[in-house]
Amino acid sequence: MKRILTLAIALTILFSQDVFAWGYAHKLIAAIAEKHLTERTQKNIDLYLDHSIVDYAEWMDVYRNGTPYEISTWWHMITVDENGEPCGTTRSNGDGDGIPQMERIIKELNDWRNQPDSLVNLNLKWAIHMVGDNHCPAHVFFNDLPGGPQNRYNWFRVNYKGQKKAYHGLWDVQSTTDINTDLVKDLYAYRDYIDNKYGANKEAWEKGDPWSWGRESGKACRPMYEWAKPGDSFDESFFEEHKDLTETQIAKAGYRLARVLNDAFGK
Ligand SMILES: [Zn+2]
Repeated sequence: MKRILTLAIALTILFSQDVFAWGYAHKLIAAIAEKHLTERTQKNIDLYLDHSIVDYAEWMDVYRNGTPYEISTWWHMITVDENGEPCGTTRSNGDGDGIPQMERIIKELNDWRNQPDSLVNLNLKWAIHMVGDNHCPAHVFFNDLPGGPQNRYNWFRVNYKGQKKAYHGLWDVQSTTDINTDLVKDLYAYRDYIDNKYGANKEAWEKGDPWSWGRESGKACRPMYEWAKPGDSFDESFFEEHKDLTETQIAKAGYRLARVLNDAFGK
């Protein structure tokens, strides 16, 4: 019995952490955003969070299955319809996907001075993670791919460096950690590399709202279903070849998170 329990716990951790989380990219996004917070924004955020926003980047993934946060399961995803338009699909929890939820969170954060402290704290933790997930390649679901809006299509298996892996999970983890391998061990060096490379676009990229970000993410991420099909074999050179997608999605998310926080807390 004890063994079965241990196995069940191990599987829960495996499925909640590895297969369903953008992991390292969330930390990079928060680090990029933090670099671009104004002093006033940082001071106001510090009233609600005890640590750097980087320390909260994965909070939402850790608590996604715990009571009472199950409601947030689909907030990690966005949905794009057959015309490439984000549709904010309501799923089984009846509460919409990451786009309408992000819109609500931004609205509430903009009104932080009139909100209860606990809600400001919670909304900050949602935002730090969810702006990232709005840009996460594997978390953009397409209504017209097999399985529709509830699809697990991108969990199809491929051979990655000789091991059977889910395409989804590879994009969540290896797309970021198997490129720029000399930088992975130093989050802030990786952050500066991305920021130096894409910083000239910050002003143009930080604009928009969750709906326009979703439209853009849909367009940018759709080709990944042409790049690989079930059963394909590839190694890290695949992510090297497509690193533009990974890096630009991370940079955009970082700049947009900084803007959301500066808009709300910089005043
Ligand atoms: Zn997530």
